Amino acid sequence: MKKKFVIGIIVIILLLTAIISFLFWPPKFELKNDETITLKYGQKYQEPGYKVTKFGKDYTKKVKVKNEINQKKLGTYKITYEIKINGITFKKIRKIKLIDDEKPVITLTGNENVSICPNAEYKEEGYKAIDNYDGDITKKVKVTTKDGIITYSVKDSSGNIAKVKRTITKEDKTSPVITLKGNKTITLYLGNPWTDPGYTATDNCDNDITNNVKASGTVNSNKLGTYKITYTVKDSSGNQTIVERTVKVISKPTYNSNSGSNKGVIYLTFDDGPNEGTTNVILDILKEENVKATFFVTAKGPDYLIKREYNEGHTVALHTASHDYSYLYKSVNNYYNDLFKVQDRVKKITGQTAKIIRFPGGSSNTISKKYSKGIMSTLTKDVVNKGYRYYDWNIDSDDAGSTKTSSGVYNNVIKNLSKNRSNMVLMHDIKTHTKDALRNIIRYGKNNGYTFEKITMSTPMITHGVNN
Ligand code: ZN
Repeated sequence: MKKKFVIGIIVIILLLTAIISFLFWPPKFELKNDETITLKYGQKYQEPGYKVTKFGKDYTKKVKVKNEINQKKLGTYKITYEIKINGITFKKIRKIKLIDDEKPVITLTGNENVSICPNAEYKEEGYKAIDNYDGDITKKVKVTTKDGIITYSVKDSSGNIAKVKRTITKEDKTSPVITLKGNKTITLYLGNPWTDPGYTATDNCDNDITNNVKASGTVNSNKLGTYKITYTVKDSSGNQTIVERTVKVISKPTYNSNSGSNKGVIYLTFDDGPNEGTTNVILDILKEENVKATFFVTAKGPDYLIKREYNEGHTVALHTASHDYSYLYKSVNNYYNDLFKVQDRVKKITGQTAKIIRFPGGSSNTISKKYSKGIMSTLTKDVVNKGYRYYDWNIDSDDAGSTKTSSGVYNNVIKNLSKNRSNMVLMHDIKTHTKDALRNIIRYGKNNGYTFEKITMSTPMITHGVNN
């Protein structure tokens, strides 16, 4: 009896133990993947999963998950997995580390490789630093320079470091530029003194280095020939530039109207054209008579007549663009502006740079005195030094003066013709009575043993005395 009781007690104790054990026995609680997960900033947390079983029964669905992650802020967060079975709570915790391991990005304004003048200092062109977590951290960039290399470095709040380099090369590979004042080729008359019109030299790094130019070579203006002046300059980096100027010393032209060597030659010269209605008739007559003449043209009249003069073998020479004395004799500059204007016109039409000229009013004019004293003395020398040849006349047809008839023009010309000299005849192709007199003048010349020629660069100059 006593024995049965004891067994009964033991059985009860075992039973109670079994029941309590069943209740408090922890379930099998598994977290898939690691219990600590590292997440990169910007990467979204994905739950890897979990499983809870107890004595073969699946409780997974009853798990409550508490997620504290703030994806916008770096740090360590907890995820709590909780389950209540038969009134008893079981917990599991997963650690989430949200980190930033990405370097900031530094962007340079301008090139990574910069070449500057040896005497220059590099001027910072700018930079920017952007971090994926911190945002704009340009202000934190540290700039250091060593041996021509600029290093830009920056550290973000997580300690990630970015570095960018810029290489500065000090060099000058560009040669200086020499600019000659005056023409590259200068014609000088024998005996006229040579003076260099000068030059300037500039360099991309050294600026004005005119004083470093060395001019070598000599011009003997007392000896005919072609001379070369060489201008050499080096910049501080040793880049060298050489420029040459040619000086041609040529024989002096004949200045006296009576010493022309082409005796018995008639030079028909026509000023102030071209002009529609007269120049074309004059060209027709010259063509029919097979005579070549010289036209001192202006800015007026149609281009095609100049083209015709040129095509038909006449000399297209330069008179003036404006024929306005008050403008062109006001200054040497004005004179050349006016001359270059008509020179450009002729060049455009004929393709030739005309160098044969006639001063408006002739070199002996006195009207220029009114506008600039002594200008003709200057110009008559200067044009020759510039390679022009100017022609006045020794027979004036007076067709622009008081003679208003063709017979008058004819008489003025033929009575002054001489076989003992060259005959430079001044006429104007804008005048009606001139065109009407022309054929008879040519016939007279031919019948009396004269020859007709156009002016060329080798025709001796026929010049008046200068009166201003
Ligand atoms: Zn004129």
